Amino acid sequence: MKAYIGDSPWTDASGMRTAECRPSTVYIPEPTRRTMKSTIVLLGPPGSGKGTQGEKLCSEFGYVKLSTGDMLREAVKNQTELGKKAKTYMDAGALVPNDLIIGLMKEKMAAANGKVILDGFPRTLEQADALGEQMDVDIALNLDVADEELIKRITMRRSCPSCNAVYHLVHNPPKKDGICDKCGSELYQRDDDTEATVLNRLRTYREKTMPLVGYYYAKKKLVTIDGVGSIDEIYEKVKKAIQ
Ligand SMILES: [Zn+2]
Repeated sequence: MKAYIGDSPWTDASGMRTAECRPSTVYIPEPTRRTMKSTIVLLGPPGSGKGTQGEKLCSEFGYVKLSTGDMLREAVKNQTELGKKAKTYMDAGALVPNDLIIGLMKEKMAAANGKVILDGFPRTLEQADALGEQMDVDIALNLDVADEELIKRITMRRSCPSCNAVYHLVHNPPKKDGICDKCGSELYQRDDDTEATVLNRLRTYREKTMPLVGYYYAKKKLVTIDGVGSIDEIYEKVKKAIQ
């Protein structure tokens, strides 16, 4: 049977396409054509603010954040088998072994389809290769902050053991000294926020994780963002990078 333009279900008699009768599978509105990056790896030393930036992307664009740090702290707090093992490494400021992290991640990754942000994973070239075998990374965002600035930021952090709120003695102090504004619990300095542990973590980061910057650069996936400035200033740059 011969088909004429006018017979097509999404054209009118003159052959002009009309918005009403375009099949939805064909019609793609202009704004969504510039697709957002769906798998984002966040890179940056401890204290660079990448966690905060990741959270902002989640609440604005619906990404699911898979944070190794959060998953580990949760496991440690709940004293699960993996959590207990992980704690011995974390207390020493050393990296937690791959199989342990991957064990924790597996469940979460299965539940998150679509847009994910990986924060704290991969941390090594070995992990990056393992990840690359399982999913395509669209972009690696690297937040760049100098060591001296990081030490200042981290050692002044105080955390709430009950609600996980985080304060900074200079930039974001609690209203009452040492007491959580939100729930009234006594604040504490996390073991991994002391200067000795910070130096150790920075050394580990430079050794094991910095090579990832080169790794994703070589794959043309890297975007480096200056991580000094207000949270909103940095966020504007992050948003530009993922669109
Ligand atoms: Zn609290």
